[in-house]
Amino acid sequence: MKNKILVTGGAGYIGSHTCIALHEAGYDIVVYDNLSNSSREAIERVSKLIDQPIDFVKGDIRDTDLLKQVFAEHQFFGVIHFAGLKAVGESVAKPLLYYNNNVSGTIALLEVMREADVKNLVFSSSATVYGDPESLPINEESKRSCTNPYGQSKLMVEHILEDLAATDDGWNLIPLRYFNPVGAHPSGQIGEDPNDIPNNLMPYISQVAVGKLEKLSIFGNDYSTVDGTGVRDFIHVTDLAQGHVAALNYLQKQVGRDKYSSIGFLPINLGTGKGTSVLELVTAFSEVSGQNIPYQFSARRAGDIASCYASADKAKDLLGWEATLSITEMCQDTWRWQSKNPNGYHSA
Ligand code: NAD
Ligand code: UDP
Repeated sequence: MKNKILVTGGAGYIGSHTCIALHEAGYDIVVYDNLSNSSREAIERVSKLIDQPIDFVKGDIRDTDLLKQVFAEHQFFGVIHFAGLKAVGESVAKPLLYYNNNVSGTIALLEVMREADVKNLVFSSSATVYGDPESLPINEESKRSCTNPYGQSKLMVEHILEDLAATDDGWNLIPLRYFNPVGAHPSGQIGEDPNDIPNNLMPYISQVAVGKLEKLSIFGNDYSTVDGTGVRDFIHVTDLAQGHVAALNYLQKQVGRDKYSSIGFLPINLGTGKGTSVLELVTAFSEVSGQNIPYQFSARRAGDIASCYASADKAKDLLGWEATLSITEMCQDTWRWQSKNPNGYHSA
């Protein structure tokens, strides 16, 4: 069975961790990334961790000529498609950039895949496609709606994938809807490396802990949750990486069983199924790191919801995957990465 995988966006936060998991699971990988939000240093560190050079192509997914060349050079079983822009606030300020990169970019990739007759895809979707959920936990049948261009771009791609699966039964398309990825590789060698002041909670907390930022603002303490702060389903990035391996293994099994029975469009949540509040995460991080994390309560952030956590049953039933790592391990690994690399990949 073919086991070569194209990993778009493989130099990024989730992609780099997934490259290691794929290698450990016996997959051959080719990483394709324009490095717009990542660095060669990440690729080098992954290469050291797996003790093997990485087959890396610096390129944009919208560059179809280069993509075609890569598909001509390799016989891929499928693609894991991480490449995309992900900052909600920036997407509101620059919607065209987001639709162009995330939606047009994915269309360009799908066209090249179709031409090369490579029709197995795992796509980085997000729990953001569920908007403000009507009930919890959120399962894959829950209503989808988005309020910002980033979320819309993920939802649009999902609709494109659904349409594709409906008209051409050769496609096997798995959008993985990630909840809140946090943590880092246990080696402390790779992790999340925001370019600017972090938008997300965990990197903000860890930068306060390491002394790069003064104080955390907690957006809202009047939600109807356990302690008034927002509740999210934080998932360790190495668990998430294993979820991608499980999705690929599933594709290998299904597609391998009968060439003519495709799985079409199969969305799957990747979460732990457990909610943790902002304050609970701050407390856990403080205990693990031994650092004081000053914080203040401020107004709710526009567009935020009170609570969000996954039903993780479908991933368990279909893929045999479930998250294994605790909030303590998420904080420990984040802290190891942050304290060893206070300035991310630029610390070297
Ligand atoms: P990231 O920014 O670290 O990684 C994305 C990678 O894609 C980067 O290396 C970037 O250089 C590359 N890239 C962006 N546009 C590209 C293009 N046009 N051509 C080639 N490469 C391009 O982000 P991440 O956190 O690793 O997220 C990976 C994927 O998962 C993204 O699609 C993101 O939207 C999605 N996602 C992330 C989260 C999260 O909280 N991190 C949650 C849900 C979904
Ligand atoms: N949050 C916060 N302060 C910050 C960043 C985030 O209080 O500096 C809160 C946010 O309001 C939400 C939770 O932390 O309740 C998770 O936010 P994040 O941006 O990490 O992920 P989201 O769930 O919004 O995708």
